[in-house]
Amino acid sequence: MKVFDNISELRRELAQARAGGRRIEFVPTMGAFHEGHLRLMQTAGQEGGLVVVSIFVNPLQFGPLEDFDSYPRTPDADRACAAAGGAGVLFTPSVAEMYPQGEIETRVEVGRLGRVLEGEYRPGHFAGVATVCAKLFAIAGPDRVYLGRKDAQQVAVLRQMVRDLNLPLEIVACPTVREDDGLAMSSRNRRLGREDRLDAAALYAALQAAEAAARGGETSRGSLLSAARRVLERHPAVRVQYLEVVDPQTFDPVDTVSSEALIVVAAHVGSVRLIDNCIVGTAERPEREE
Ligand code: AMP
Repeated sequence: MKVFDNISELRRELAQARAGGRRIEFVPTMGAFHEGHLRLMQTAGQEGGLVVVSIFVNPLQFGPLEDFDSYPRTPDADRACAAAGGAGVLFTPSVAEMYPQGEIETRVEVGRLGRVLEGEYRPGHFAGVATVCAKLFAIAGPDRVYLGRKDAQQVAVLRQMVRDLNLPLEIVACPTVREDDGLAMSSRNRRLGREDRLDAAALYAALQAAEAAARGGETSRGSLLSAARRVLERHPAVRVQYLEVVDPQTFDPVDTVSSEALIVVAAHVGSVRLIDNCIVGTAERPEREE
């Protein structure tokens, strides 16, 4: 595995790979790797192209009161994990390499999709994500980009950006990897205290309760959310920010589930903010969407 922190050198390496006929399979991340990241890299590797993983904790997507400074950073372990995950190239730019003039003049603006739910609680977050991804895509020139469904709204925002800006790449959404008790793996989980870690599993249990209600024939937003709320009420340590049934592409609220819908949740447990989601109303859950 080759490691670059310089954009020009990375570009030279990837141009050579492309000239040799290799496709670029790109996995953008913020590091502090866990099994979820590893699985993305492994999925990316199945296509036979060059797997390029980036690690960049992007200041632009953190609000002023958010955890940019305390976001977990584990560079040595990440390097070993990326190599084990089959990455051929690891890109680890500094903030100065990505934003040499500090503030940037030009940003990607996101529409309504990026302003609801996560966007409402994290103003500017998706514009920051879209901007850094536009930069990373311009730097790496990927054929395919691998994203986790755990961040479902991020997938929808970036798919929309790819469509709106005619970016020549495909986004591949990969399943959420979970701990044994169902908690979605996240770099932030390591900051959960022992009690909070137990309560955090209630998020997935609540989603499962809603999913079970949907499988049992419930289609109304009210009954699905009630099923989820009944679980969350047993865990007062879980402070819910939002719990909603939405369309997976537009994130518009869904009153009655006829085809596929997403149940999305965000909550604080202790000082840690967690998000999760599940798909309801579909017989099959596609591993991969084009
Ligand atoms: P992050 O480093 O948290 O920005 O995540 C980098 C990528 O890994 C994003 O596409 C995430 O959606 C994805 N990811 C994070 N956690 C998981 C998980 N538990 N399962 C699958 N993908 C994940």
